[in-house]
Parts: sequence; C-alpha cells; structure tokens
Amino acid sequence: MKGFMRVWKNMDLDDVQKHLIVAGELSSQCYSCNSPGIELTSPSCPSCGVAFKYMGFRRKLTPSFLLKIKEANPGIIFIDFEDFKKALSKRDARKLLDM
Ligand SMILES: [Zn+2]
Repeated sequence: MKGFMRVWKNMDLDDVQKHLIVAGELSSQCYSCNSPGIELTSPSCPSCGVAFKYMGFRRKLTPSFLLKIKEANPGIIFIDFEDFKKALSKRDARKLLDM
C-alpha cells in the first residue's frame, strides 16, 4: 500500500529552477521561459526545449491527480511550490548580502 507524503530534501535550486513545470488550475507553465498553456504531461517545454524534471503546483491537489501525472511521466519529481519560492528568495537575499 502506498500513499503520497511530502519529504524534505536539500535540493539544487538552479536545477529545479531550470527544469520546473508549474501546474495551475487550468493550464501549466514552464518556469524557465514562462511559456503558458503547456500540456501537463509534456516531458519537455515546446518553446524553450528544457526537459521537465520537477513539477510544482498552483492548484489544489488530490492523490488521484498526482497518480495520473506519475503514470504519464514516471520520472517527474513533485515539489512544493511555496517551499521552492521561499528557498529561492532566501538564496537571492544571501546573494545581495555577499555583493
Ligand atoms: Zn520553456
């Protein structure tokens, strides 16, 4: 028996930033080039060509929705979009301090 739960992992922010698709209520968007209207199960971005390795969400999630995506794209890694944005702003704030 399996069930979804979120796991905390120390991620490479640049890699996530480059290979992220963000799923919204109606359509999905490439985080790299901001191209909208991408097929949710697309393995790569039709406009900039990056391979999608991570998926973040701007919508409500259900286990059946997640399973459907996993079935179509078994290698995709689900991330919490809020976590990602927080980590990103922390990194960028640190960059400013280092300057
Ligand atoms: Zn793109």
